[in-house]
Amino acid sequence: MKLVLDTSAILSGMDFAGEVYVPSGVLQEARKSGLDPRLEAVLETKSRVFEPRNRDLRAVSQASLETGDDASLSQTDQEVLALALQLEAAVVTDDYAIQNVAARLGLRYQPALLPGIRRRVDWSFRCRGCGRYWPQTLEACPVCGAEVRRYRRRA
Ligand SMILES: [Zn+2]
Repeated sequence: MKLVLDTSAILSGMDFAGEVYVPSGVLQEARKSGLDPRLEAVLETKSRVFEPRNRDLRAVSQASLETGDDASLSQTDQEVLALALQLEAAVVTDDYAIQNVAARLGLRYQPALLPGIRRRVDWSFRCRGCGRYWPQTLEACPVCGAEVRRYRRRA
């Protein structure tokens, strides 16, 4: 199965079974936010990096307007969806806006972390800007650039 990973999927460090594809913008974003070098080495050997096509980016932009998710999708989020359109692949993401637009485009999607795993991981890093959770400490949020803080969970 062909899988297109978004930044949260990359940073999850999960080992995905199947052919893994990454838009070039997502890889740059993950590097900027302090991608673990070991994880990057795995990515470089296991994944293929692609530039999405303009016509697919336009289709994604149109679909996000239709679902009302256009303000929630970053440039790299759109690249993830455009690449999935091109490859007719499933998107791996924990981002609801991406999942929503993927459904609109007729693309399959799957969460980066399975629900059972999500509970075990105990998320403790959260962006102060967009509110996304990240599985590791980061210098800045890969999506919005805001500060990522340790998040104290209620017991
Ligand atoms: Zn953010």
